[in-house]
Amino acid sequence: MDKYLLMKRIDENIHNLIKNNSPKRDLGDLIPLSIFQAVRIGILTAGCGIEAIIYNIGKDIGKSVISNYVENSPTELLENFAEILKKTKIGILGIEKIDDDEMILSLRECVSCYNAPNVGTTLCHFEAGLISGTLESKLKRHVKVTETKCCGKGDDYCEFYVKIGERRYW
Ligand SMILES: [Zn+2]
Repeated sequence: MDKYLLMKRIDENIHNLIKNNSPKRDLGDLIPLSIFQAVRIGILTAGCGIEAIIYNIGKDIGKSVISNYVENSPTELLENFAEILKKTKIGILGIEKIDDDEMILSLRECVSCYNAPNVGTTLCHFEAGLISGTLESKLKRHVKVTETKCCGKGDDYCEFYVKIGERRYW
């Protein structure tokens, strides 16, 4: 399987979504939340260690795609990022706290956990990775994101603790 070819196509598809290019598929390119969550939650419950894989998928997309559409300064970056998350229907981003080395971000109506029952754990590793990858590539610093609130834990929305670390040199 040519993973590079598949990833390239995924990047192009997300680019088209952000740029409002009309989809080629007659049925359009949006799928119902119930179908997305069935696949997403199905993968998550398939085995241990999946959380880190999903986080890294989000991180790669944040770095290779989303970061191309956001500005470098922290406030503009978050504003642009919020627009993209809304446009791609991932969720509604809120800034709860912003500091030089940490942030607290909220995500309402999250595509991964919206309406999920309380299963005692966070579910949004993709979204956490997306935040990490996007911020890391723009701020050029290590960014570790941990989800602290989630519908999967009985909360009404997701909240992410963003730790901004040392400068990255690659
Ligand atoms: Zn969540």
